[in-house]
Amino acid sequence: MSRPGEGVEGSPDHPQPPRPGPIPAAETGCVGEVDLRARAYAAVADVVDPEIPVLTIADLGVLRDVAVEDGQVRVTITPTYSGCPAMNMIAVEIGLALDRAGIPDAAIRTVLHPAWTTEWMSEAGRAKLLAYGVAPPARGGGRRALFGEEVVACPQCGSADTERLAEFGSTSCKALWRCRACREPFDYFRCH
Ligand SMILES: [Zn+2]
Repeated sequence: MSRPGEGVEGSPDHPQPPRPGPIPAAETGCVGEVDLRARAYAAVADVVDPEIPVLTIADLGVLRDVAVEDGQVRVTITPTYSGCPAMNMIAVEIGLALDRAGIPDAAIRTVLHPAWTTEWMSEAGRAKLLAYGVAPPARGGGRRALFGEEVVACPQCGSADTERLAEFGSTSCKALWRCRACREPFDYFRCH
């Protein structure tokens, strides 16, 4: 359905102009860029954080962008903090997920600026963390934490009567806390 003079790429039999809206693949057998991006995003968004398997990289806000440029899928991610060992694994998992979706040769780009912040975590992600028994990061908590006024609710009983036992918990992304009300220790996803 290409119009003349549009600068269409590809052969006349298989035009692939970028155009808005879903493209009925059965019509031509070709996959449009919009459809390709949607398929790539769906595959990539399901990749989970290896340290917290209930959270996807979309939940975390680590997944910044999925784009199609010149027919190539380009995925942009921002690590939760530079040097996080899970990030290499996440990049590998993204490549595998795209392979499984029939999208080889994707480019995976890591962007460090602007730096990831727990503010990017979705509400769905926070709810999943809590259900997993990990206290989600408080909104705007990074700033309050600087002054030692952080209040973290116990993910087991909801009590705010909690104390921090260790700056680093089971992984460097988490701190170990304890609830004074129910006496249970718990992980807190550290704000930064
Ligand atoms: Zn408790």
